Amino acid sequence: MQTLELTEIQGWVLPDMTRKYHYYAGSNTSLCGGYEATPEQLQDAYDNNHKCADNCAACQRKRLQLQQNG
Ligand SMILES: [Zn+2]
Repeated sequence: MQTLELTEIQGWVLPDMTRKYHYYAGSNTSLCGGYEATPEQLQDAYDNNHKCADNCAACQRKRLQLQQNG
């Protein structure tokens, strides 16, 4: 079984008990700070613009900030 390096995580994940996708970058806690995802879920993280009504608005804003800061 492969261990996922947290630093490699970057993308949208749909954690348990949430109806929104949240964004994770180098952490198992979402950018908006509220939601932890399991390693299995983080393994499926994918990073794209993912403009979707089901995205967490706070995570979208933070993701934009990350991109603008390089
Ligand atoms: Zn979020």
